[in-house]
Amino acid sequence: MQPIREEIGIIVKSAQEIAVMREAGRILAAVIAALVKEVRPGVTTGELDSVAVRELKKRGAVASFKGYRGFPASICTSVNEEVVHGIPGGRVLKAGDIISLDVGAMLNGFHADAAVTLGVGTISADAQKLIAATKGALEAGIAAARNGARLGDVSAAIQAYAESRNFSVVREYVGHGIGRDLHEDPQVPNFGIAGEGILLKKGMTMALEPMLNAGVWRTRLADNKWTVLTADGKLSAHFEHTIAITESVPEILTML
Ligand code: MG
Repeated sequence: MQPIREEIGIIVKSAQEIAVMREAGRILAAVIAALVKEVRPGVTTGELDSVAVRELKKRGAVASFKGYRGFPASICTSVNEEVVHGIPGGRVLKAGDIISLDVGAMLNGFHADAAVTLGVGTISADAQKLIAATKGALEAGIAAARNGARLGDVSAAIQAYAESRNFSVVREYVGHGIGRDLHEDPQVPNFGIAGEGILLKKGMTMALEPMLNAGVWRTRLADNKWTVLTADGKLSAHFEHTIAITESVPEILTML
């Protein structure tokens, strides 16, 4: 996630570079799968951070987020009304919570970035709907990310999917290009107009990451100056994949 700013330039990757990102993505997917198994009532978010560090190290990768612009942990754990950038620590998860696990893996100088949201124990039907809609919005965005399409097609697909299910899309934080840098151009908003924006080309690699809120789209910053909260305190969910634009369907680099 990154705050909105002007576009500069877009780096198209070679097949060799994408191969490294594919390996980073494969490692990342395995790490997230390991983390998901640890999510249960009674576990702390700090324990999840430790699991991520251990699982990344085991596979020869390092956490992309540690120290990024001063971020104090290795992963982001955002619970309930926390949208993104939750800082792992002593918080104990309880049944009924939902948690977004956002992890970045760096391998041989390239990054992969992915996130999932899941329930802790049994969660409400409303929370389940929010999670399903957010996952579906990501899938809709990926499906639109075709060679020759416009970036706005991706943004509009995500927004339409989310809003048709009566959820709102966060405006202040967006997806991004990714490669040697965790955050590269272009920015990938989760809202927009089909047919507008840059042309997508084979070799572009991007992290799509819809953040959907149960209430209003507006957010506010927590006192720790990192964690983004929904302005109305209602639930938020977040899914993310790193993808590569190909000649046909996009390749999901962070798929297990
Ligand atoms: Mg990201």
